[in-house]
Amino acid sequence: MAPTALVEVDLQGTLSKLASGKVRDLFAVDNNTLLFVASDRISAFDVVMQNGIPGKGVLLTAMSVYWFQYLQSEIPTLRTHFISSSLPSAIEDSLPAEVANAIRPRSMQVRRLRIFPLESIVRGYITGSAWTEYRKSGTVNGTPLPAGLVDGQRLPSPLWTPSTKAKIGGHDENISPEQACELVGEAFAKEIERLSLEIYGVAAKRAEEVGIILADTKFEFGVDEENGNKVVLVDEVLTPDSSRFWPKNTWEQNLGKQQPSFDKQFLRNWLTEQGLKGKEGVVVPEEVVMNTVTRYQEACDRITGECSRQCFV
Ligand code: ATP
Ligand code: MG
Repeated sequence: MAPTALVEVDLQGTLSKLASGKVRDLFAVDNNTLLFVASDRISAFDVVMQNGIPGKGVLLTAMSVYWFQYLQSEIPTLRTHFISSSLPSAIEDSLPAEVANAIRPRSMQVRRLRIFPLESIVRGYITGSAWTEYRKSGTVNGTPLPAGLVDGQRLPSPLWTPSTKAKIGGHDENISPEQACELVGEAFAKEIERLSLEIYGVAAKRAEEVGIILADTKFEFGVDEENGNKVVLVDEVLTPDSSRFWPKNTWEQNLGKQQPSFDKQFLRNWLTEQGLKGKEGVVVPEEVVMNTVTRYQEACDRITGECSRQCFV
């Protein structure tokens, strides 16, 4: 069977496109508001695949909306960019209902902010690039860790491991907390670290209730220049694109090995096995697409308790 072609989101000129990231397209609603639309594109090792994961943009949006609302209720002082999951009237009034219906579940209206050039990563468990560094030097982002950890082990306490935010085509680089201070200023860096650790704690607890270990995750933050330069949580949050989700019941038996996961790891593994890591123009075979869909659906279903049924009808 031929792999599913990548269907691009088309707003038919109702709003002007400001930017396209690897996964999302950003449209201007007005000077202060964006329509943030998640496509089905998937990237791994910073490269976008030729074909998409059908329904992924819907799943990512459902999870992000769920988390923005959950985090807001658990941390009332938290500021987020989320405004609403409805479409602006410019789209509802001008596009045929079936087109609007297809765009709505992929979209959020958000506040347009200046984004810090920092990926704010929190790790509760050691794996991936952190494990690679630790194996070589006993450190993670320059911070020494106790000896004798194994891949997948829980860290003594969650660790803030920022990275730079590369432009399209580039690669993010892990940096130390001190370098993060140099990049965005000490006050902002400390606030981003504090918020990231607090959000991670709340989210990891919620994930555990549904049998998921939130091994690590990546946040982005912006600054609200009109309201006292407050730090605001932006982008997508706590999705399988930005996080590692492991089933809790098989974690211990897989310590030191590859953990089963409800995220991108299946695709990363396939690319690595095929020698395609970091290569452009890769077409992902249907079997890998379907395996990835199933994992994303499982994460979404468990966490939100509802979404995949509405995503794929
Ligand atoms: P990734 O960050 O996952 O590696 P990417 O940077 O290519 O991928 P996408 O996630 O596809 O980008 O697109 C989202 C883009 O929108 C990011 O550049 C992000 O920094 C930016 N963004 C997120 N929230 C806001 C906001 N409230 N205002 C302005 N830009 C935003
Ligand atoms: Mg992104």
